[in-house]
Amino acid sequence: MIQDIFPKIYHNEYRDEKPTSSDFILIFSKDTVLVRFQDNKLRYPTLAELSNYSCTYHYLFSIDDYKYFLAYPEHADVTIELDGYHYESVRIFRTADSRHTAFAGITGHHLFNWYQNNQFCGCCSSKMVPDHKERMLRCPNCHNMIYPRISPAVIVGVLHDGKILMSKYAGRATTNYALIAGFTEIGETAEQTVSREVMEEVGLKVKNIRYYKSQPWAFSGSLLLGFFCELDGSDEITLDTNELAQAGWFSPEEIDLEDDHLSLTREMILKFKRGDIL
Ligand SMILES: [Zn+2]
Repeated sequence: MIQDIFPKIYHNEYRDEKPTSSDFILIFSKDTVLVRFQDNKLRYPTLAELSNYSCTYHYLFSIDDYKYFLAYPEHADVTIELDGYHYESVRIFRTADSRHTAFAGITGHHLFNWYQNNQFCGCCSSKMVPDHKERMLRCPNCHNMIYPRISPAVIVGVLHDGKILMSKYAGRATTNYALIAGFTEIGETAEQTVSREVMEEVGLKVKNIRYYKSQPWAFSGSLLLGFFCELDGSDEITLDTNELAQAGWFSPEEIDLEDDHLSLTREMILKFKRGDIL
């Protein structure tokens, strides 16, 4: 999966540091990132390459001993342009090599969105300032504190009679079959999210809900929680056509998907295909 970068190690501890010349700098513009490719491998600029620009930097994380920082031009109307680099959609992080470099990119984009969307206090509109001890933004006027936002969501493998329920989203470019999924609402447990989402999207009741595994999924700013469960009662699907284009029951032999080394959804589907569900 996208976070599986072993033997590289992701170090997420907050540090109050300034970049040095060889540190990697992530530069985003909305949903694009400044990159180049060298021998088909994704590369980010280092601080040394940014000498013509006056920027504000935030320390993000390290992978092994390599530090990553976020850069913003000090004037908001400046777009950073560097020789040999170009802006690409953050969707490249789904497939680009090396995988640890792609993981750094999408994780940096999640943090970029958080910094970008919290420049001003939601209580009094003052300019927020970064804290020096932890990853937090503080309002100097009313002392409001804002911590990074992660939205929990569930992925659900519904099992019945040797088959698994798979669906396709309506109105999306990706056409692969996936599992039922949805965000947790305020006031509910993850298990309640599972029951609610399955009922809303396909009109089915489920039982024996059991946790499988989690995955950080920065593309939607979420932490995905994977569950398997069993059908409880009728297997007749009532499709929510606003959300889904198709849904149906599939036996292992009917599943024609390869491991994408990316998503928890795909890992769960292939685990079922191998007859390998606990
Ligand atoms: Zn405030």
